[in-house]
Amino acid sequence: MRAMADEVVGRCIDHITSLDRQPSCGDVDAAELCRALREPAPEQATALEPLLDSLFRDWIPRSFTASGPGYLAYIPGGGVYPAALADFIANTINRYTGVWQAAPALVQLEANALDWLRDWMDFPPQARGLFTSGGSMATFNAIVCARERHLGAEIRRGVLYTSDQAHHSVLKSAKLAGVMPDRVRAIESDEGFRLRVGALGEAIAADRRSGLTPFAVVSSAGTTNTGAVDPLDRIADVCDREEMWHHIDGAYGAFFYLCENMRDPLRGLPRADSLTLDPHKGMFLPYGTGALLVRDGAALRAAHEATAAYLPQVPHPEDYYDPSQHGPELSRGFPGLRVWLSVKLFGTAAFRAAIAEKRVLTLEAARRVAALPGIVIDAPPELSLFAFHLTWPGATPADEDAATRALMEQTTRRGRVMVTGCTTHGRFLGRVCVLNFRTHQSRIDALIEDLAASIREIRG
Ligand SMILES: *Cc1c(COP(=O)(O)O)cnc(C)c1O
Repeated sequence: MRAMADEVVGRCIDHITSLDRQPSCGDVDAAELCRALREPAPEQATALEPLLDSLFRDWIPRSFTASGPGYLAYIPGGGVYPAALADFIANTINRYTGVWQAAPALVQLEANALDWLRDWMDFPPQARGLFTSGGSMATFNAIVCARERHLGAEIRRGVLYTSDQAHHSVLKSAKLAGVMPDRVRAIESDEGFRLRVGALGEAIAADRRSGLTPFAVVSSAGTTNTGAVDPLDRIADVCDREEMWHHIDGAYGAFFYLCENMRDPLRGLPRADSLTLDPHKGMFLPYGTGALLVRDGAALRAAHEATAAYLPQVPHPEDYYDPSQHGPELSRGFPGLRVWLSVKLFGTAAFRAAIAEKRVLTLEAARRVAALPGIVIDAPPELSLFAFHLTWPGATPADEDAATRALMEQTTRRGRVMVTGCTTHGRFLGRVCVLNFRTHQSRIDALIEDLAASIREIRG
């Protein structure tokens, strides 16, 4: 066991310490390789070393370097090292944490970690939460709670509202929760890519006139496209007035609420009935760490509570948290340990400081990108994401789209940063998102140099 662990840990540490020098995006043109990899289940055992050789030499490098400092694409995260150790412990001890009775102290650590998220987000004491595998599953659970609370068995009447900028997981989650696409309204966003509250009110009124039951709004605390934060406070007012559930998708943006000076755009966040958070983004934990908070913990329990003749009963369900009574899973991993250990080891202040640093880096990056020749900023950073396009005199929108796409690709090909774009409001926009704890000033300098060089190539 020790020899195997030494072999693995040694390679992992070499990997981490070389992240700085790894290309921002490996060779992912790997269809041939993947075909060659297909094989039947081996009948015989294999030694560990050659498997690790293939993993670390041939397969891991052929990927987006999502944990590296140059990953400014999509929504970065990182993967803090102690979280991997927590998973190692969790998987080694392999204790059962689906029910409280099976490992009360361990489950309490998970409950503590959820309470910390609750306190950070200024949710009330009666709020309860759930660690999920990601933001998508958190939103799915939230919509189930909203549906149970407001529709009961009358699911077909229910209408859910979100914006045309919402993450596609909202539509998927609605469908999983039995709310079909014809009962989901994508309200148009304004020129700042934020949900139009006026249009929301009109859509709700129109659906009521048709005899339908508006029951939930899913707003965004930071969209994936451009980082737009919906007017959360005003949407909360609408939901109060209309007696609807307000879910906020904070998969990207919620952890900015940790920083006092970021509270203004996120005002209204603590008023939500439920909130999706993604610790594998804003807390830099490994993938597989999502979280849900529900203001009225009883609503989360009501949606998932179940008994089985063979299971131990929870003695005090109000006092002791039982994961399987707050979510759809019974047997599960122990995600709470990686959150708990990371927060204990680093302290909240370190997370707050890392988020604040990303914000400062983004403001500087946006200022310097805006100064590059031909760049137009379409979405200034509300949090740590901004979007832009390339233009020149006489350019058609199609020319601009193609040039902006080329700019993202050529910049990424230089190997120091990875950047991507999105198509929204009929335009292709380049985007930069700074949310990896390994990204620091020098990488922003590299971003600016490589964007500038690519612009020279494209315009030349
Ligand atoms: C990432 C993201 C999601 C989806 O979360 P997963 O963890 O990938 O399932 C949803 N909404 C937003 C705004 C996101 O950035």
